[in-house]
Amino acid sequence: MFRTFIGIGSNSGDRLAAIQSAITMLSKTARPDRVVISSIYETEPFGYRNQAYFLNGVIEIATPLNPLETLRCLQRIERELGRKRGIKWGPRTIDLDILAIEGFECEKKELTVPHPGLAERRFVLVPFDEIAPCFVIARLNKTVRQLLNQTTDESQVNLYITSGALMKKLKEVTQ
Ligand code: AMP
Repeated sequence: MFRTFIGIGSNSGDRLAAIQSAITMLSKTARPDRVVISSIYETEPFGYRNQAYFLNGVIEIATPLNPLETLRCLQRIERELGRKRGIKWGPRTIDLDILAIEGFECEKKELTVPHPGLAERRFVLVPFDEIAPCFVIARLNKTVRQLLNQTTDESQVNLYITSGALMKKLKEVTQ
């Protein structure tokens, strides 16, 4: 089993519905034996600023899929949810990234783990810290909590829906 942390974001259309659909699809296709979901935060756009605010969260799964299989699984979900590729850092229905995998490192164009932008993004570190503050990020050799305390990113990250309320909504949909 691979303990895998996934970043999830959306800033176009019904953002929360897209995030819920992605989580539901991930729970079916990655065959995880454990899923932990952070709260969802509303966050300032990063990079290309002239666009709508994002919703962001982090999901932890324990999955039998290897890292490349997980990447393919995330890309399939992105495609199915109709993400339009256009402006770099531009509007997206859903964006799924592998943030970190326990005991695994990789530095290829197709897959870089830990995710290289991690330490500079509060929109990743705040939800990550909520579910795994003591997790050590390989290469940086720091915990998520340390990275959050040290980041120079000052962008806004505001609670949008708690993990408890989100789980309740997800149960209502899947029942
Ligand atoms: P983006 O459009 O920013 O989501 O980037 C997608 C591209 O980044 C794909 O071609 C992936 O193969 C590549 N990639 C590299 N590392 C990762 C990662 N840790 N998670 C997701 N995609 C990655």
